[in-house]
Amino acid sequence: MCNECGATAALAVPVASGPEETVPICFADGTVFDGICDHCGQAVHYAFPEAQLCETCRDNAYAHF
Ligand SMILES: [Zn+2]
Ligand SMILES: [Zn+2]
Repeated sequence: MCNECGATAALAVPVASGPEETVPICFADGTVFDGICDHCGQAVHYAFPEAQLCETCRDNAYAHF
C-alpha cells in the first residue's frame, strides 16, 4: 500500500546493495520507499529508521510516553 498516492501496488524489489534486501516501490507513481514499517506494515519513508517506524507510528509511540 502506497501512502503517497494510495495505490495498493507497492511491491518489494531487490536492491543492488544486497540480495537479501528489498525496497518497496509503487508501480502507480514510481515512489521508492525506505522500507516496510515494522508496526503498521505499510510501505513508508522511515521517520525513525533505527526502529523502522513510519511517521504515524512514531508519533503514536511517542504519544504513549
Ligand atoms: Zn504510489
Ligand atoms: Zn507505521
